[in-house]
Amino acid sequence: MNDLNKSWQDFCSNGDFLNFTRTWETGSEESFESSLSNGLKIRLYDIGILQIIPKSPSASYVLISSGVHGNETAPIEIVDKMVKDIWADKLEVKVNLMFIIGNPPAMNISKRFKIQNLNRLFSGRYQSIVNNDSKPDYECERARIIEQSVTDFFTVTLDQKTEKIINPIRYHFDLHTAIRPSKHEKFVVYPYLDERPWDKNHIAFFGGSDITTVLLGNQPAGTFSYYSSNRFNALSATVELGKVMPFGENDMNSFIGIDSNLRRLIRDEAPVIKPFNNTDYKVFEVKQDIIKTNDDFKLLLGDDVKNFTSFDKGTLLASDGNDESYTVEKDGEAIVFPNNNVPVGQRVGVLLQPVKL
Ligand SMILES: [Zn+2]
Repeated sequence: MNDLNKSWQDFCSNGDFLNFTRTWETGSEESFESSLSNGLKIRLYDIGILQIIPKSPSASYVLISSGVHGNETAPIEIVDKMVKDIWADKLEVKVNLMFIIGNPPAMNISKRFKIQNLNRLFSGRYQSIVNNDSKPDYECERARIIEQSVTDFFTVTLDQKTEKIINPIRYHFDLHTAIRPSKHEKFVVYPYLDERPWDKNHIAFFGGSDITTVLLGNQPAGTFSYYSSNRFNALSATVELGKVMPFGENDMNSFIGIDSNLRRLIRDEAPVIKPFNNTDYKVFEVKQDIIKTNDDFKLLLGDDVKNFTSFDKGTLLASDGNDESYTVEKDGEAIVFPNNNVPVGQRVGVLLQPVKL
């Protein structure tokens, strides 16, 4: 038995998903299937991509991803604890379930990514990246493997017993933490829905999870949540849970709301909801991405500026000192994800405007 096989056997008995993923970081090139002592079947598509199959067929498909940015540890700890609790029969699985730790090598070096931002490469965008050595880099290869695994997971076949097509409900929660502190500590980013309407019941799920700030995407993107939403009609969201901290330093109490509601979903129980209205929720629409157009282009904001800081009309937000700049056009416009440390052509921040749904 090789070491990976041995580790897999150990994982099947101890449920230590984080440790197993950390040890084997870059991939297995083979998948594994096993039955646990509690009767659940599990499948590992690749390192950090774990499916759990319920004992009875279910029409619900729940994907919970973490660590798409490797240094965002709180979501990884949330997922790791869920897996341990499933192994220990403290969390019953009644839906089709997939957990992903997105970028294990970046996690192991406490970095956002190894070569490039994985959350820009989905919906096949990894294919258009050409490297000097014409070999896909780690994140491109990882995006491809994740897409393949998710496609397999979300592609519904006939119920083997009844031979009926199950009408599936698909959920995707892509859990993150932000680089900067935020005026609204937790918020969800809804991927652009193309022709589909906003689902206020889905928003109510987040309200019931203590998350009442909502940001609506305005265009297709290379994010994981846009991919699952667009490709599979999943109820998808990028969920921002607070500030980045090292492993072991997260205040897990501050995630109880979302953790409990996700566990209800896994047990196929009704979640806690907070019905949507424009008073209890703060909704922003993306006005535009502010793109770094040249090496000198940068946001003119201090390092301490918080996500959702808003500005008065006329404020100069970004400039290269010459021709390129951005000035606030309306009172109340706000910034999120400010980050000058990106290559030319990528965004240094996202400009928002408040809206009512
Ligand atoms: Zn992130």
